[in-house]
Amino acid sequence: MSKTVLVTGCSSGFGRDIAKEFAAQGWNVAATMRTPEKETELQASERMGLLRLDVQDRASIDAAVASTLARFGSIDVVVNNAGFGLFGVFEETAREKILEQFEVNVFGMMDVTRAVLPTLRKQRSGVVINVSSGAGVFTLPMISAYCASKFALEGFSEALSYELLPLGIRVKIVEPGGVTSTRFGERSAKEAGERTPIADYAPFVEGAGRVFALLRQARGMATSEEVARVIFEAATDGTDRLRYLATKDITPLVEARRQTSEEAYIEMMRSRFSPKL
Ligand code: NAP
Repeated sequence: MSKTVLVTGCSSGFGRDIAKEFAAQGWNVAATMRTPEKETELQASERMGLLRLDVQDRASIDAAVASTLARFGSIDVVVNNAGFGLFGVFEETAREKILEQFEVNVFGMMDVTRAVLPTLRKQRSGVVINVSSGAGVFTLPMISAYCASKFALEGFSEALSYELLPLGIRVKIVEPGGVTSTRFGERSAKEAGERTPIADYAPFVEGAGRVFALLRQARGMATSEEVARVIFEAATDGTDRLRYLATKDITPLVEARRQTSEEAYIEMMRSRFSPKL
């Protein structure tokens, strides 16, 4: 019997490619999104359900899980992919925006996980895959709320993995770097446009812009499809491995964070963003 995956945020980017990857591998796919009526690329079929799920709406989560179980009989893997990133200095970012950042990236991910756990527990098997980011391993200025949300996702996932392993349920964290083919940048730019700039930060923002431009140049050409393949591997490799780096562009920063001393690492980052004149 085919296995079943439920994926959040399938209207674009990684989510759409994750749905396609699992479908190509013969899985049943519950491709969930906020507005399935607008979907034109993913085709509903016997094996692919396009379901409404807004991670900020718990009733829609419960309904999508119930409808997946009714249709396919089980849920073997859940991919918490839905998310977005606020861009801009913290003080310029409205409190409501930060609440929304956490509602989607953290509490929504927890609510979807909570909704599938009774099924996975009953089965004594299953994989919960949480999509983090390089920003869940190291931090950068201008994305403090996003980093906070992905650090929260990482801490939650790691702690949860200990609780679930004895029940046969594995938790996996996938960490992609910069992939420009998704709608992630578009949403971040839109959110950034809604801030009220504070003049005191202008010189820092200008300098940070130059560092971000250098980081963008150093980016490889990682694709959304590659990230989807890493997520499929995490779902099916049968190991208890917790973390998967999904794109090579962030390897230097991830290694610096994990392998350099705290003092040397922080000094290296400070010198990039606040060079001593
Ligand atoms: P994307 O193309 O913007 O996709 C984000 C998806 O999340 C969209 O389907 C969006 O749906 C959905 N979403 C937003 N709010 C939602 C909500 N309340 N309920 C349900 N779905 C919601 O961006 P992406 O790059 O594929 O991002 C996917 C994940 O990868 C995110 O968690 C992101 O943090 C992470 N990530 C991305 C990158 C990157 O460089 N692209 C790097 C590292 C990590 P709508 O169309 O309805 O808004």
